[in-house]
Amino acid sequence: MNIIIFGPQGSGKGTQAEVLAKKFNIPHISTGDIFRDNIKNQTELGNKAKEYIDKGQLVPDDLTIKLIKDRLSQPDSKSGFILDGYPRTIPQAEALDRVVDIDKVLEVWISDEESITRLAGRRSCPQCGAVYHLKFNPPRQDEKCDKCNKTLIIREDDTEEVIKKRLEQYHRQTEPLIEYYQNQDKHLKIDGMPPIPEVTKQINEEIK
Ligand code: AMP
Repeated sequence: MNIIIFGPQGSGKGTQAEVLAKKFNIPHISTGDIFRDNIKNQTELGNKAKEYIDKGQLVPDDLTIKLIKDRLSQPDSKSGFILDGYPRTIPQAEALDRVVDIDKVLEVWISDEESITRLAGRRSCPQCGAVYHLKFNPPRQDEKCDKCNKTLIIREDDTEEVIKKRLEQYHRQTEPLIEYYQNQDKHLKIDGMPPIPEVTKQINEEIK
């Protein structure tokens, strides 16, 4: 099963992608995570990507498309994958269509107000990248990662000013994907507003 999941910042797409990856035993491929890993390791790609990410801008298509093609050519994605955060533009979707067949595309919808509220409480683990929310998905121990016990951090691109830019860019550049995948009869809209388990239930009903 080759699945795409997308939605505005804070829609919970990463959390739901994890659930789907376990259910189908396929890799969860997040371009955001790959960029953050590269930034942490100060690779050439990471240094280039950081300039854009810190400002709330998209990393240019040529870099992102190359990255995803390389990732999808690895053996673990041959039996399926869940793409989280890619594609984010029409040229990225077209490039993807040239290398793989996509089965389903999940759009996890939330309002802009909800997106801003949720990101304000978001914390992540600097070690393993696990994502928590202080109110909706808190770690077991105060601000510590459940898996590696590291103190959680606020992502640099989760400040209010950057969040607003990322939302504006989502509406302008990523939302056109809805029509793109509707035309291919692959688009499924999920209501991302309810609590996490209810969103998972909706997804499970759509993807058996
Ligand atoms: P995410 O963790 O998915 O919210 O991604 C964090 C940031 O990485 C985004 O705000 C972009 O700057 C960058 N990024 C991730 N995926 C892509 C993509 N497919 N195209 C361009 N930039 C991306």
